Amino acid sequence: MAGIYIHIPFCKQRCTYCDFYTQVAPQLIPDLVEALIKEMHLRKEYLSNEIVETIYFGGGTPSLLTKNQFASIFDAIFSLFQVSTHPEITFEANPDDLNIDFFNNITSLPFNRISIGIQSFDDLSLKSLNRRHDGKQATEAVKNAQSFGYKNISIDLIYGLPNQTIENWLEQLKMAFELNVQHISIYGLTYETGTRLYKQRERGEINVVNDEEMINMYQIMLKAMNENGFEAYEISNFALAGFRSQHNSSYWKLKTYLGLGPSAHSFKDTVRQWNISSTKKYIQAINAQENCFESENLSVNDRYNDYIMISLRTCEGINTKFIQDNFGEKYYSFCMSNALKYIDSKKLMLRKNRLELSLEGIHISNLIISDLMII
Ligand code: SF4
Repeated sequence: MAGIYIHIPFCKQRCTYCDFYTQVAPQLIPDLVEALIKEMHLRKEYLSNEIVETIYFGGGTPSLLTKNQFASIFDAIFSLFQVSTHPEITFEANPDDLNIDFFNNITSLPFNRISIGIQSFDDLSLKSLNRRHDGKQATEAVKNAQSFGYKNISIDLIYGLPNQTIENWLEQLKMAFELNVQHISIYGLTYETGTRLYKQRERGEINVVNDEEMINMYQIMLKAMNENGFEAYEISNFALAGFRSQHNSSYWKLKTYLGLGPSAHSFKDTVRQWNISSTKKYIQAINAQENCFESENLSVNDRYNDYIMISLRTCEGINTKFIQDNFGEKYYSFCMSNALKYIDSKKLMLRKNRLELSLEGIHISNLIISDLMII
């Protein structure tokens, strides 16, 4: 099983908290689409013995593409790769793009999952983050998708927004559950260096939610997810039964994936590759039929570290037998001896051969992960 990820690095405007590789340059979209198709031809051997089970358009804002642009990308995918009979095919979208005309246009395309970047239903919060949509558009986007028959919809929410109160967070969760979506991704707001939001915080212009309130908001959310039937299958991801993201799960299971487009990452066997993080240079390199990526062969330490970092965030946790079988006794002993203090303090739970984060452990997951990694 393998996945294909396609990066569409364009946004209509920049959100104040975002440090992803995206740009406001719609004039480059046609050239990018051509380059993506050429890249598929150049790299089709990468998945030569694989069945593609997931296809994911991420960004940036994939919902900026036209129907014909999507269709030409799909034509290339289905002619160059072996795609399973029921692949999961997702696109990320901004709520204000998801109007009736948009859905009328894309009905013939094979999408069966939508991931909508709602972040909040609160107009003041959305404005302060420089999001393009308002709360009403967020709700309408989901309802429009449902009216066109989409039955696998994910929404993103962010907690800990400047000035946010517990009451406000509860209200956001209530509105999310009322939409009857199948999957919710939840992120705590982070202040990434260099972003507008980071600078606003440095200048003391915003009211930052403190650590204790952040923990409180996360716990409230966990309880609400549980009460509404959502399984916490990863620290930030919650799904109704049968609706986990297959694409993201394949990253966590270290399956092969091919990343296309500027800054996209690929992974196969023990090799990781990453495409150049410049749309213009990416397009130039592809047009010149040159390699547009760098790669590294992961050492055993790297692979062990990747496994720790990824698996501890999931509800399955770290499989200590997997470590023994795949990395050997030395790595198993290192992991278990470093885990001991967290098991004693009940931040980690050892169930049979699985190490899982407890509720208290989730809040210091980054610390635990770095302690279990070989630096
Ligand atoms: S729409 Fe998404 S990718 Fe684009 S700037 Fe906002 S958060 Fe970043």
